Amino acid sequence: MLFGPPGSGKGTQSKLLVRAFGIPQISTGDMLRDHVRKGNAVGTKVEAKMKAGILVKDDVVNRLVEERLQQCDCKRGFILDGYPRTQAQAEVLCRMLAARGVRQLVVHLVVDYNVIIARLSGRRQCPVCGTLYNATSRPPKVPGVCDLDGAKLVVREDDREEVVRERLDAYEKQTRPLIDYFREKGKLLYEIDASHDSPEAVFQKIEGLIRKQ
Ligand code: ADP
Repeated sequence: MLFGPPGSGKGTQSKLLVRAFGIPQISTGDMLRDHVRKGNAVGTKVEAKMKAGILVKDDVVNRLVEERLQQCDCKRGFILDGYPRTQAQAEVLCRMLAARGVRQLVVHLVVDYNVIIARLSGRRQCPVCGTLYNATSRPPKVPGVCDLDGAKLVVREDDREEVVRERLDAYEKQTRPLIDYFREKGKLLYEIDASHDSPEAVFQKIEGLIRKQ
């Protein structure tokens, strides 16, 4: 379980973990964006909330995760990225994992507030393939253009400043309190400083924690 504020690098770390351990990344944000792109019933329901940077309803994401965990690529393990985000989600997840007898590890990526703002405001995305770039930490070869398909990069709708503020607010009020919840439940919880080190250095720390279990 990768836990941390928006911009803490959960998505980047998930991708590195997928490569190293051959287990899938389950990102509720990516799954929801996918439904919005398809314009289906779930997408229509969540689109306005996502654009505004507020959390979508617990039962919507819980159902998505529950269905996803039933797929056979999850049998050997999985990475949860951006889920759970509320206590109600954490309770449902606990039940799902207990029913499957899954061993759990929570990694909390701790990032300085100013670093988050700088990262999110410099973030650009390819509208075609979804690859993320960053003006400072991961610039494209040609400014403003995707390395992979040459498309013109855009600011993700919810990376606009006023929406970033909402997302951070949602994190502080609804998600951060889960750390105490995990602690009380006696979950294995590790904190990693993800403000200063490179993504590779952060990854090595996480990989070490997982291999130690
Ligand atoms: P970030 O972590 O950078 O804010 P995500 O891609 O994880 O970005 O999430 C984008 C948006 O999708 C959130 O602002 C929220 O509206 C919705 N979302 C994603 N995961 C959840 C979740 N577990 N519960 C409720 N809403 C979610």
